Amino acid sequence: MTKFSDLALSPKVLKAVEAAGYETPTPIQEGAIPAALEGRDVLGIAQTGTGKTAGFTLPMIHLLARGRARARMPRSLVLCPTRELAAQVAENFDTYSQNVKLTKALLIGGVSFKEQDLLIDRGVDVLIATPGRLLDHFERGKLLLTGIEIMVVDEADRMLDMGFIPDIERIFSLTPFTRQTLFFSATMAPEIERITNTFLSNPARVEVARQATASETIAQEVVLIKPSRRDRAAKEKRETLRAIIAREGESCTNAIVFCNRKTDVDIVAKSLKKHGLNAAPIHGDLDQSQRTRTLDAFRSGELTFLVASDVAARGLDIPAVSHVFNYDVPSHSEDYIHRIGRTGRAGREGKTIMISAPVDDKNLAAIERLLGKDIPRADSPNQTAAPVVAEGDETKEAPKRSRGRRPRKEEPVAEVEAEPAEQPPVEQPQEQKRERGGRGRGSDRGGKKVVGMGDHMPSFIAMSFAERKTG
Ligand code: AMP
Repeated sequence: MTKFSDLALSPKVLKAVEAAGYETPTPIQEGAIPAALEGRDVLGIAQTGTGKTAGFTLPMIHLLARGRARARMPRSLVLCPTRELAAQVAENFDTYSQNVKLTKALLIGGVSFKEQDLLIDRGVDVLIATPGRLLDHFERGKLLLTGIEIMVVDEADRMLDMGFIPDIERIFSLTPFTRQTLFFSATMAPEIERITNTFLSNPARVEVARQATASETIAQEVVLIKPSRRDRAAKEKRETLRAIIAREGESCTNAIVFCNRKTDVDIVAKSLKKHGLNAAPIHGDLDQSQRTRTLDAFRSGELTFLVASDVAARGLDIPAVSHVFNYDVPSHSEDYIHRIGRTGRAGREGKTIMISAPVDDKNLAAIERLLGKDIPRADSPNQTAAPVVAEGDETKEAPKRSRGRRPRKEEPVAEVEAEPAEQPPVEQPQEQKRERGGRGRGSDRGGKKVVGMGDHMPSFIAMSFAERKTG
């Protein structure tokens, strides 16, 4: 097994690694660090949780230890898609560079330019920035990128999702072509491949296993819901979430609740709070100081439920989250992997529960395709579990249906669908009837109850076993 001491890092860096309590390098570190120390470009295909941040910060600290920064000419640059991720990378630098004298500046939106200008003016070894804010500084004539020796692009796939690729290309073109580039992405979309082909020179390619395959310690569940009425769908979904949380009881020590939209992040956080749960929202529209406060409270255990959007939560390093709740089924299946990867970290047990309505069928199927397996179905608990805090109208309107087990792919469809529906079908608006279909959901297609295979059931299925043998 490789040890950190085998990686040719300087004793000062090794000391900091030891102080951080790391015993052995993770696979991405084992692959990326030696190549980076040799001065090679690195293409790291890895996602959050793999230790990739130390994979680039450790060799950078080693390489930058010699030399001094000049005013307004940073020596290295780390580009991150979100402010939180940038702040986290900065923290990593602080942790690992404690025995080395390095100056750094964090250029992120939502913070005044003045303070950042001051740092840049003095000269920094490491500049950590989001692309927009970096270019703002550049355009104000406050910054020169011609002294960049090492440039890191972190979470390039997220940069692509957020429309930052033109900014990244521009930034690349402002730095000297002699720079060393360390480039990280969880996936290699064609656009990312193009960028790496253009700006990286003969990179060492280090690819580590997807987290999805590694996260055997995460128990996954999906709760299928069906709104009793279209205008109650959101309310009932929130009620289901509370019932799920109540069902998890004390095992749920802290959790992240993911929503697809920022507006829902706010609504869900408010609703949980109203029902006596210790919850707060985090998304890109909140100001930086509030986001930092919320995150700190969550890290310290003061806050129990962090309600988040994908972008805000991306790359956050929050150890020991007992649960991840997917209030919404993510529309990009990759996001499911990222979301659930927030629990069950570093070999700990974790649990994730997702709420899925009939409109989510397609996205749920895509996630299961990506996982290569079905997510076990659980009955909606809000028919059996008491809500966290007794309430007025909302509890009375709890959807009354319980869903039967969904047929597993290998099971004969006739057998499972022939199970009697546990609850009578509730009249649905016409539009919802059309959306529903397939994947073992309702048996009331087009208002007509289908038993077994409906009109198309082959007659041998109706025969008894003895009849079949003799017939
Ligand atoms: P990252 O993928 O960079 O977000 O890192 C995920 C987590 O792994 C962070 O909490 C790091 O502190 C931790 N970590 C990084 N490298 C190691 C290592 N070699 N051994 C144990 N933990 C590590």
